[in-house]
Amino acid sequence: MAQDIYAIARERMVREQIEARGIKNARVLAAMRKIPRHLFVDEALWPQAYNDYPLPIGEGQTISQPYIVALMTSFLELEGTEKVLEIGTGSGYQTAILAELAQRVFTIERSKTLMKRAKTTLDRLGYFNVAYKVGDGTVGWPEMAPFQAIVVTAAAPDVPFPYIEQLDKGGRLVIPVGDRLSQMLYKITKLTNGTLQKESLCGCRFVPLVGAYGWPE
Ligand code: SAM
Repeated sequence: MAQDIYAIARERMVREQIEARGIKNARVLAAMRKIPRHLFVDEALWPQAYNDYPLPIGEGQTISQPYIVALMTSFLELEGTEKVLEIGTGSGYQTAILAELAQRVFTIERSKTLMKRAKTTLDRLGYFNVAYKVGDGTVGWPEMAPFQAIVVTAAAPDVPFPYIEQLDKGGRLVIPVGDRLSQMLYKITKLTNGTLQKESLCGCRFVPLVGAYGWPE
């Protein structure tokens, strides 16, 4: 019965917050309809899990607004064959979406506490195509490169060059870049001839990406 309440809330979230704002990618919409977002936050926050805003997940971090997760994921243009690098595992919710839509997900989180919780949730839900690393995600995951898609869910002062190096030809990088208070979301495509194409998507506000090629502690 309680599960039904969340299924209804999830359907409403997709219709009113995501489809209504113009996101049409059928695979992204299906993943967001399927994944029980409430299981990625504390039980006290379950009644708010499908609302149109970010929520605290501990360690001063947040699970992103559902719409921004859908938007970033749709710009990755995943077809199911990709190796994806995700920076900022957080609650693991976006990781689950990526695991539904790509072949393999490599996710990096600097907080050991958050990573442990995210992995427990993702294991319980049966997402076994995910590899986890605790550490500074600004250096990427060079041993596993190249990636056909890279998504960064914390804001950098500039695009860390390891992401450009580790992006496959034809690959897409989605990343917020700006100061600590507000940023622009960018999509950077590495064309098959190796040149980069940069598109500004929208203004946004993320927690800082802290690390060697991000913000200082
Ligand atoms: N996508 C996540 C979700 O669905 O819950 C939300 C991510 S939260 C907005 C950003 C995360 O990036 C935080 O958990 C933070 O600890 C992490 N982070 C910040 N700097 C990082 C770094 N250099 N490497 C890895 N993770 C980092």
